[in-house]
Amino acid sequence: MVQIDRMEIDDAGSDPKRLATAILDQLPDDTVMVPVRDIAKAIDIYEIREEQLSGLEGALIVPKEKSEGAILINKDRHESRKRYTIAHELGHYVHPFHRANSPDGFRCKKNDLAITKAKPNDPHSRMEQQANEFAAELLMPARAVASFVRDTGEADLSHILELARRHDVSREAAARRYIPRIGDPAAIVFSKGGVIRYARNNEFFPKLSVCRGGQVPHQSVSALSNAEIGEITGCIEVAAHTWLQKSAGVTLFEQTLAQQNGFRMTLLTAEIEEVEDEWVAPSF
Ligand SMILES: [Zn+2]
Repeated sequence: MVQIDRMEIDDAGSDPKRLATAILDQLPDDTVMVPVRDIAKAIDIYEIREEQLSGLEGALIVPKEKSEGAILINKDRHESRKRYTIAHELGHYVHPFHRANSPDGFRCKKNDLAITKAKPNDPHSRMEQQANEFAAELLMPARAVASFVRDTGEADLSHILELARRHDVSREAAARRYIPRIGDPAAIVFSKGGVIRYARNNEFFPKLSVCRGGQVPHQSVSALSNAEIGEITGCIEVAAHTWLQKSAGVTLFEQTLAQQNGFRMTLLTAEIEEVEDEWVAPSF
């Protein structure tokens, strides 16, 4: 049985990552798949109720002082999604500054669970972003992801799937966690029915020419591949201008995976030539 000392969490302050770490530090050292339901129970969440929720992904019902609480989650979801929602609600529960946005407690919509950057001067989006940061850290501890990335080497979609399996999180959540930790230029593009949903890239990756709501480029492997659902393609070299604003000196590789219902995940990796700036004679 999991035992969590809430005092340790109270002492962690208000940084979402530190709050998650205060919990993780109390789990056995060999924990890979974080027992999120047991953690909830150990910190006085007396019920996790699964219901058909309309317009909501999850909710946290708590008294003002948050001494105990109940979590509501959408029952029509995969277990990995349920785990993420529970972790998100726990983020609201343990964060010392989070206050409920309605008399019924915290009510979180699907969009709220995807906020990774808070809008300026918007306390609601800030709380949602912090709950997401907490959830990501709790379910996929940064240290564990970093050592996984080190051990697995070059970026590959199969590694993202393995990471998702290990931590029992969605592939999308795993990808968002994986990409920033890759040491070479890498980006991941999520699309549905040939339309870009969103993309994430690490700091080394050049600027993409596609944006949310736009079409997957016609000449891309993602558009042309007829690989079956669930089958990962090889890393195929594509013309860099297919995906990038500036293609000079960039060798681009694309790997893609078709998922159910038209969803697709595309990994882009790049090799960038160091181009020395041409010397231009100063004019006087
Ligand atoms: Zn929320």
